[in-house]
Amino acid sequence: MSAKTAISSGNSSAQPFPFLDLKAQYQAIKSGIDAATQRVMDSQHFILGPEVESLEKEIAAYCQCQFAIACASGSDALLLALMALEVGPGDEVVTTPFTFVATAGSIARLRARPMFVDIDADTYNIDPRKLETAITPKTKAIIPVHLFGVAADMDSIMKIANERGVPVVEDAAQAIGARYQGQPVGSIGLCGCFSFFPSKNLGGAGDGGMLTTNDPTFADKLRVLRNHGGHSKYECELVGMNSRLDALQAAILRVKLTYLDSWTEGRRRNAARYRELFRSHGLDQILGLPRESANCTHVYNQYVVRAPKRDQLRAHLRDCGVPTEIYYPIPLHLQRAFAYLEYKPGDLPEAERASREVLALPVFPELSAEQHDLVVASIAKFYH
Ligand SMILES: *Cc1c(COP(=O)(O)O)cnc(C)c1O
Repeated sequence: MSAKTAISSGNSSAQPFPFLDLKAQYQAIKSGIDAATQRVMDSQHFILGPEVESLEKEIAAYCQCQFAIACASGSDALLLALMALEVGPGDEVVTTPFTFVATAGSIARLRARPMFVDIDADTYNIDPRKLETAITPKTKAIIPVHLFGVAADMDSIMKIANERGVPVVEDAAQAIGARYQGQPVGSIGLCGCFSFFPSKNLGGAGDGGMLTTNDPTFADKLRVLRNHGGHSKYECELVGMNSRLDALQAAILRVKLTYLDSWTEGRRRNAARYRELFRSHGLDQILGLPRESANCTHVYNQYVVRAPKRDQLRAHLRDCGVPTEIYYPIPLHLQRAFAYLEYKPGDLPEAERASREVLALPVFPELSAEQHDLVVASIAKFYH
């Protein structure tokens, strides 16, 4: 079906295509995945072990870090990083309000206080110009998030963090492979936290996570904490947790890692094509397009535009069979779970404005030219 016929089908709802087509991805790599899962089944070794150790080595190399420590999820990676920093009640951790809830959840679960700093309107990442005043003697860490796949302004953040002696934990859950001035995210702060949730650029067949660091002592502490706090089975030095990665996930992720760069290229190609098509329809004057700065490689886990009349546009796109998502409709400082922090509307205006204006469009690597054209033509129809 061409874009034209889909749109001219009037107001009857068109058959939507998926926002992220994981079935198409699986079909393309099925034999490799199936062989990997079979290998684990034959071994009957299910938790940590050689598959996980190999994945750790491969991710460390990919992120140009000395150490990588696998764990059960991206949320746990953040939690483990803060546990290793001994964050606890009365402490403060500075982060962004415009992110997935797990970023701040890791802080709150340790009974520390999330200190939200407003975002930069162009990148949606924490605004370093507002960071300095949020740091107090109680600040135990800063968690910048590389949101949607583009690095936060790490030079400015690291400069402030180093001056104040505060460690930086990078939430790189959406940004594996992204670079900041040539340096992979996750290798710039004290550690990086990655997620293998299925919708991330490197997604498993379930939950999974990874920490990266160049600090051997910190790496060792993370390894101990993720496995009940001990080096050996029935001796524990620390109160840890069970946050181990399954061998099945590791085996699948190892196959997918070999495709990651080509998938990232596909996402970047799709983003570039959106820009061209929006320009040719004059939509670049209406939509706020993602910012690509010269020194950062965006990996487009999400392709997010600012859209006037966002909610009406979204409803119109749904009728045209175009899937969209909103990341994120409520900034964290206004979530009920964080009401006890006593933020109020207007406190972090850029994050609040972004929540009202952003719309994520499909950008997955397997997106077809027809689907791509349908998205743009449907948006053009709405505004013109
Ligand atoms: C996905 C995500 C997480 C959490 O990862 P899980 O593996 O789902 O626990 C944390 N932070 C950000 C920014 C994320 O996008």
